[in-house]
Amino acid sequence: MPDIAIIGGGAAGAAVFGELLQRDDAGVVHWIVGRSVPGRGVAYATDDERHLLNVRATGMGVFANHAEEFVQYAARERESVQGADFLPRRLFGEFVEAQVQSRIRAAQARGRRFAIHSDQAVGVRALSEGQYRVELAAATTVDVDAVVLATGALSPRPLKTVAEKALTSGAYELSPWRLAQHARSPRRVLIIGTGLTAVDTLISASTRWPHAELVAVSRHGKLPFCHSSQPLAPYPLQSELNASLLDCNGVALMLRLIREAFRDSQVSDWRAIIDGMRPINAALWQGLTLPQRRQFMRHVRWIWEASRHRTAPASFEAVEALRESGRLQVHAARVLAVEGRGPLDVTVRSRETQLLSTLQADLVIQATGLDTAVAYAADPLLSQLLQDGLAVPDPLQLGVAARPDGQLLDAQGQPRAGLYAIGSLLRGNLWECTAMPEIRSAAHQLAQTLGRRMTIDIPGENSAEA
Ligand SMILES: Cc1cc2nc3c(=O)[nH]c(=O)nc-3n(C[C@H](O)[C@H](O)[C@H](O)COP(=O)(O)OP(=O)(O)OC[C@H]3O[C@@H](n4cnc5c(N)ncnc54)[C@H](O)[C@@H]3O)c2cc1C
Repeated sequence: MPDIAIIGGGAAGAAVFGELLQRDDAGVVHWIVGRSVPGRGVAYATDDERHLLNVRATGMGVFANHAEEFVQYAARERESVQGADFLPRRLFGEFVEAQVQSRIRAAQARGRRFAIHSDQAVGVRALSEGQYRVELAAATTVDVDAVVLATGALSPRPLKTVAEKALTSGAYELSPWRLAQHARSPRRVLIIGTGLTAVDTLISASTRWPHAELVAVSRHGKLPFCHSSQPLAPYPLQSELNASLLDCNGVALMLRLIREAFRDSQVSDWRAIIDGMRPINAALWQGLTLPQRRQFMRHVRWIWEASRHRTAPASFEAVEALRESGRLQVHAARVLAVEGRGPLDVTVRSRETQLLSTLQADLVIQATGLDTAVAYAADPLLSQLLQDGLAVPDPLQLGVAARPDGQLLDAQGQPRAGLYAIGSLLRGNLWECTAMPEIRSAAHQLAQTLGRRMTIDIPGENSAEA
């Protein structure tokens, strides 16, 4: 039976691990989780109760089929939980851990073999066709027949506009999740970014430093829109709209169709239309040519992200309250330079006036969202995969080149036997593949694909289980 390694201890890695534990067509399943708590990853490691899920409780889950859904778990853990609620991400992290534990217990009872490695994978070497050696930081290795990269987005890199001295000053924070490390109370905090991560950062900073002035800067200065408090009725003509969208050629035409639908008298809320596109988003993206994708990234991405990835009502209200009280200013401006040793000088060009100005801040926090530009990453594993030609970057730096089922394409453009990815690394191919509803179904399909592949390609010959 073939052995499989999953690299990455976030929710995507947990989903693939749990799916594979349930199957009998894989050999030893190795889960390489790094040094953090398995299953939590970046999103669910937060212990701030005000960091909320941006998907309703009913939409969240980790495995395609499991005995208990998140909403049932949450209702057991706390009072008066409704399926439509946006619950704390911390609670979902607990749920993922509990679900994984329950799969582990079931696997142990069946004698199913697996190993969890609390170490970083630093290399994946091709041994022979469809055979890999995973190298771990502690100088141990694991030989397997298939590898799944579930490494999430890249660790944040400083923006090019940040001077070295500013970076090392202690007044520039690359990770929005490390605010607790800043003991001194800043008078002014400047956040670069206005997406969902920036919203959480504003909420945390406003509580941690109740007297600090807050400034958020991004090119369009657009904070995410808000979810409706209750689920919306579907747009009655959604299937016709989706069929037309799939039929049309180009971003401009798609936008026209969506705007026309917004104006339709049958629409009570535009958000229902955006949500109704979810099942076809990957197909729409795949239908675009490279220049069209570029056009989308340059002109449409900012408003798409704000409309599609909306905040929970409570998070939205918290940020609105900060704005109304005058504590928070949001600027539409491009950051041209971050200099100084603390306080830092942030030079920006206003989108509206094109004028330059310099804002001073005691603490600057980079909250610019998912980084998937693997070609520029200082990540040893990804650098080695690119160097060895086992993977190639997506042309728009949206992860790696891959087939829709997650199989990586190598430097010759060929599908690489036994090498797969899930989650953020697949943005170039799938665009929308980073949230749990997509990840849980991708994990289920990937486990099936791996099982099928192993049965077809190498029937029974790899029976060297430990
Ligand atoms: C702040 C935030 C909030 C979000 N909120 C929601 C939400 O409400 N609902 C939703 O559906 N989605 C949400 N998401 C999307 C989220 O990306 C997914 O839900 C999911 O958590 C992604 O998990 P992942 O495992 O792909 O990535 P990650 O969470 O990034 O986990 C990857 C893990 O792999 C580890 N790793 C990387 N390289 C290696 C290596 N070489 N060796 C070993 N380990 C490695 C990383 O350290 C990390 O722990 C949110 C994302 C963020 C960032």
